[in-house]
Formats: sequence, structure tokens, C-alpha cells
Amino acid sequence: MASSTNCDTVILDIEGTITPITFVKDILFPYVTNGLDAFLDRSWGTTELNDHIQLLREQAEKDVTAGLSGAILIPLESSKEDIKSAVKQNIEWQMAADRKIGALKSFQGLMWRSGYESGELIGVVFDDVVPALKKWQSEGKKIYIYSSGSVPAQKLLVGYTEQGDLRKYFSGYFDTSVGLKVEAQSYLNIAQEIGIKDTNTILFVTDNINEIRAADQAGIKVIIADRPGNAPLDLANSTYKVVTSFDSL
Ligand SMILES: [Mg+2]
Repeated sequence: MASSTNCDTVILDIEGTITPITFVKDILFPYVTNGLDAFLDRSWGTTELNDHIQLLREQAEKDVTAGLSGAILIPLESSKEDIKSAVKQNIEWQMAADRKIGALKSFQGLMWRSGYESGELIGVVFDDVVPALKKWQSEGKKIYIYSSGSVPAQKLLVGYTEQGDLRKYFSGYFDTSVGLKVEAQSYLNIAQEIGIKDTNTILFVTDNINEIRAADQAGIKVIIADRPGNAPLDLANSTYKVVTSFDSL
């Protein structure tokens, strides 16, 4: 059975592992859709917003060219109201479709940063997470994050939590630019990036059984996090260790 005692490196998933899924689903994503109008008004005319709108505009042109149904173009030269309305519809459409495309992620990241910095958003981690991070750090283990949320979004979530800035515990962050979380190669890529040859010295904790299988295939030790609010686990024929709290890691 895997445990954190015989490994030098711990890689953690965020959603459903260190953070309740409800925070992401009920707080983080609705923050973008509900606050879009006010955010656009507040930031209108700034270079940063213009740059992000331009990314959305270029993506929308690609989407239309690709024949994607529902794609919403953003005019370049038009009234503020027309451009704003198109941006809103574009974001709402992309978020309803749960797209994970760069332009949308960047825009969400921009809004989240403003929310965290203003104190409107506060990252949530389970109570047993910080004690575990402290313990691992004191044991000299390196701790990383691997999440499908973008690296900037990961840093915001752990940087502005109820328990303070947790970035001091993490040696690095990985998102899907290193590969999909359900592919074994992604874990080998991470091991290579952090300079570890023996993947058996790495422990990966996540709530997702497909990610567990991929990491396991890469020779990494794995433990499943079963947290309140997670979907029921389908553990048929699996012998993976499951924990409900980081106290038992
Ligand atoms: Mg997860």
C-alpha cells in the first residue's frame, strides 16, 4: 500500500482532493458568469482587458472558420455596448460548453485575480491539508500541484486561502500543458521536469480514478482522495488505497 512515508515527492490534485469540488463549481465559475457585466464596466479601456478581448476575438474567428455551432464573433470596431455584449455572450457560450481553451482560461484568470486581490474570492482547502503540507515540508519532501486549472489559477487559489498564502509549501505547479491528466506520459513528463528518475519515489494524490490509473502506469505511487461532495468512486477491481483525510497520509 502506498503512503507518504516512503516517498520524497508529493504531487497533489486540487479539485476534489485539496479543495471541495463545490468551491470550483459553486463559487469560482459562477463568479465569472455573475460578475462579468460589472467586471467589464470596471476594467473597460484598460490594455489588459483589451488584450484579453483580442484573444477571445481571435479564438472566435477560429471557431467560426472551424464551423463550431454557437460560436460568437466579437467585433473589432464597434460601440462599447456592442463589443461588451458580444464579449458577454461569447464567454457565456464558452462557459456553458465548459470549454478549456486558452483564451477563455486567460479571461477567467484575469477575473479571478481581481476577485482574489479584492478579497471577494477566498480559496478553500480542507482543514487537514495545511497540517499535511507542514509535515511533508518538515520532512524535506517536495510538494507540487498538478491540476487541469491553469497554473496562474492554481497559484491564486492556494495563494489566497482562508489559511493564508500556501504558496510557500509548493515547489512547482503543473497544468495540462504538460499533458492530459489521464495519460501516463504526462506523469513521466513531470518527473523529468522535476528531475526525478525513479518515479516510485513520487506519490500522487487525486480523486479521479482515471488519473490514478495513468500515474500508476507511470510507476508513481498513488492514493485516492475521497472527499465530501465528490462523485461516488467506482473502484471495481481496484486495490488502490483510499483516504478521506490527509491526516492518514
Ligand atoms: Mg480532481
